[in-house]
Amino acid sequence: MYCELALCIDGRFIPAGPGRAREPVLNPATGETLAELPHATAAELDEALASAQRAFPIWAATSPLERSNILRRAAALLRERMSEHARILTLEQGKPLAEARGELTHSAELLEWYAEEGRRIYGRVITARVPGVEHIVLHEPVGPCAAFTPWNFPSLTPARKVGGALAAGCTVILKAAEETPGTAVELMRALHDAGLPKGCAQLVFGDPAAISAHLIGAPTIRKISFTGSTAVGKHLMRLAADGVKRSTMELGGNAPVIVCADADYDLAVTTLAAGKFRNAGQVCVSPGRFFVHESLAERFAADVAARADALQLGAGVDAESQMGPLANARRVEAMERFVADAEAHGGKVLAGGARRGNAGNFFAPTVVTGLDQDALLFSEECFGPIVPIQTFSSLEDAIARANAVEAGLAGYAFTMGLASAHRIMHGVQTGMIGINNLTVSTPETPFGGIKESGFGSEGGTEGLQAYLNTKLATLG
Ligand code: NAD
Repeated sequence: MYCELALCIDGRFIPAGPGRAREPVLNPATGETLAELPHATAAELDEALASAQRAFPIWAATSPLERSNILRRAAALLRERMSEHARILTLEQGKPLAEARGELTHSAELLEWYAEEGRRIYGRVITARVPGVEHIVLHEPVGPCAAFTPWNFPSLTPARKVGGALAAGCTVILKAAEETPGTAVELMRALHDAGLPKGCAQLVFGDPAAISAHLIGAPTIRKISFTGSTAVGKHLMRLAADGVKRSTMELGGNAPVIVCADADYDLAVTTLAAGKFRNAGQVCVSPGRFFVHESLAERFAADVAARADALQLGAGVDAESQMGPLANARRVEAMERFVADAEAHGGKVLAGGARRGNAGNFFAPTVVTGLDQDALLFSEECFGPIVPIQTFSSLEDAIARANAVEAGLAGYAFTMGLASAHRIMHGVQTGMIGINNLTVSTPETPFGGIKESGFGSEGGTEGLQAYLNTKLATLG
């Protein structure tokens, strides 16, 4: 049904055995235990660090073509094993099987993208001021890396970090989310079955704070990459600062959506209703705060509410389910807190507003209107299936409100006006902006935020550079 959970250290897969610390992994649709997850001991973390250190010079010296071939084979295995992996992903995370397959396809495409891009690590030659001298710019892998990934995209986020590190010639220790470990274990199996030498990619689980302190504090680790909440990101940045370690931080978002009076109305409603409830809204680039022109707002809210009411909620493994449960009980409690706060701030619930059923972490897709700017939904990322709507009359005011939070990951707008599109594209303070389109994450495009949403890019050519140091050699 599920899979055998394991750590992966120095090429060995270590299952949960007697006497070892462990924790249950729960099915968010039922609350039932799927399996026991083994925790790594401090000695095993040290073993992983030593293995990553030993493997690094060998992997860095492996030709980009050979590294590429291994990543390609791993991607092919992910595609071959898609049905089995999708089921594992859905059981542990909750999203419908079709979404799980989409995520796994994206993961395979990420490995393929990095496999190709890793063959294009070019340097350059700069003519020196003195004849006979050459300046040569080299790009070298930064060294062993530590990567930390959350539970909302248990395959894609590990693939993005591990793929980038390996393609650049780095070794990597991944601490994936304890709540959704199975997909990461299967990614490791695919990489090793594809011929990845031991020590190049390893997987550990345990107490997140203890593991991150141990790995980031180790001199071996030269770079960290984290996806998760801003609070944890700040903590890891402080740890990284002690060792002056390079960091990529992909933290929370709270994406503004501006729907202008001249929007293609049907496109806006259809695209936003589908995009918002994907993965039950547990997406860092999910449309978050809706600013809708006053001429459209009432109709827009009613139409999105009708679509929310029509969504079929259910366990992701059931073919008819269009939205699954939230990934854990904390998220359901958070949604209840957001709705209670919205009602206290004058909000009117047009759809949903409460948990569904007695088992599992189901929360009804929700639409709330009439909120003032102090409502929590307009300051904190909700990370769930709630559409909070405010109206606006002037575009400048909508842009100002869009920018009135500390987060700056993604933003969206719907307008058919070129002038408005330009003002929004330049005026909204985010790392990514989608106009008449929600597609801001593909393997070949840079993904990342600004302000408190973090720094650095994943994906695109920038995603590879994140794992490379720049060195200048002057030959006289
Ligand atoms: P959290 O910050 O407690 O955990 C997020 C991830 O970070 C988890 O995988 C967790 O194991 C890991 N983590 C926690 N403490 C850590 C530490 N000291 N060292 C290393 N890893 C650590 O968040 P949560 O309760 O799971 O979710 C709360 C909020 O986090 C959400 O509302 C959302 O805003 C944000 N979040 C963002 C993303 C994203 O994709 N950017 C993903 C998950 C959660």
